[in-house]
Amino acid sequence: PYTGPPADEILAKRKEYLSPSLFHFFNKPLNVVDGKMQYLFDENGRRYLDGFGGIATVCCGHCHPDVVDAIVKQSNRIQHSTVLYLNHAIADFAEALASKMPGNLKVVFFTNSGTEANELALMIARLYTGCHDIISLRNAYHGNAGATMGATAQSSWKFNVIQSGVHHALNPDPYRGVFGSDGEKYAKDVQDVIDFGTTGHVAGFISESIQGVGGIIELAPGYLPAAYGSVKKAGGLCIADEVQAGFGRIGSHFWGFETQGVVPDIVTMAKGIGNGIPLGAVVTTPEIAEVLTRRSYFNTFGGNPLCTAAGLAVLKVMEKENLQENALVVGSYLKKRLTELKGKYEIIGDVRGRGLMLGVELVTDRQQKTPAKSESIHVMEQMKELGVLIGKGGFYGNVFRITPPLCITKEDADFLVDAMDYTMSKM
Ligand code: PMP
Repeated sequence: PYTGPPADEILAKRKEYLSPSLFHFFNKPLNVVDGKMQYLFDENGRRYLDGFGGIATVCCGHCHPDVVDAIVKQSNRIQHSTVLYLNHAIADFAEALASKMPGNLKVVFFTNSGTEANELALMIARLYTGCHDIISLRNAYHGNAGATMGATAQSSWKFNVIQSGVHHALNPDPYRGVFGSDGEKYAKDVQDVIDFGTTGHVAGFISESIQGVGGIIELAPGYLPAAYGSVKKAGGLCIADEVQAGFGRIGSHFWGFETQGVVPDIVTMAKGIGNGIPLGAVVTTPEIAEVLTRRSYFNTFGGNPLCTAAGLAVLKVMEKENLQENALVVGSYLKKRLTELKGKYEIIGDVRGRGLMLGVELVTDRQQKTPAKSESIHVMEQMKELGVLIGKGGFYGNVFRITPPLCITKEDADFLVDAMDYTMSKM
């Protein structure tokens, strides 16, 4: 049983001692005290299906015994900085990760977060090319430090500090974009940005293949090959941000960029790869990786033994339990059921995504695509009361983000959709 303080006491402390910028889901925020696989438990032992855990951290399921065991064993043995001495954990995980990458992508730099991974990737692109200009997509989220905030392109996530040298290209958004699902037409804007906004030479291009924070937007088919073509012609490196879409989540492929048949120069990842343990990575080719030997590059905890032991355990669990396959099977079923709901409720404007990275966009008018903001909050609140947690995102805050741990079952998927169905039927 839980013996800690009650939720209101925690909230009061948080208000007094923590950043005033912290925000939380739900009117009455949830006090999460335990996690077991796809479920979370509050202080009263009430169970919730975690339909949003994947975005926060979790690949294999909360507190997966194999991952916990690897972490405990490693912390009983040694936990230290990565840099100065040898330890097998970092080398073993780097080898395993490299085996999951296409082409010559086989040199790994470890970081502690997605922001750090993208900062490093952008710096590498700038060093390698000797150029400063980066192209990213409108509506993207890549992090909240100097360079990554520049690449992020939603006003709500941007502070008024220097973010130089980033150009934001048209977002190839099949639902709201001007060219519908024609990826090549949107990619023409990348060429225009290069021709009219730069010297004709760029450092690189960064994008997610399915935007997460942006509201589960799958880039229009054909976009990445055409955009990468323009960027390569301008001498730039192509960076795939796989922080949300990567690591088997989308089911059909291990990495999101594979859905568009491209091979990036640099791939970044974080979040689920440590199943809740802070861990990020940048993977690139040996030739590109060389640029960091020009100076000393040091990251105290990037790839430390504890986190990389966790990372390796995650990959092993994914293989042992066929989690990518499960993401495909359960994800496709979940998407089918959500799409059926769209037939039932006018308020659902769009159902999209792949595997266990799904989005449901609510609109008050299907023709105008008017964002149904307050309705989205209402549905989330009601579903929580029924024991189902989902997330929310998109520029207008009207897109449900459904990204559960990869171990959820068909029965869980039914429970999630039934809770949404019931809630909408009462609106
Ligand atoms: N890239 C993407 C696609 C993300 O969704 C996020 C986090 N939402 C980041 C980068 C930044 O990761 P972190 O919060 O670990 O710094």
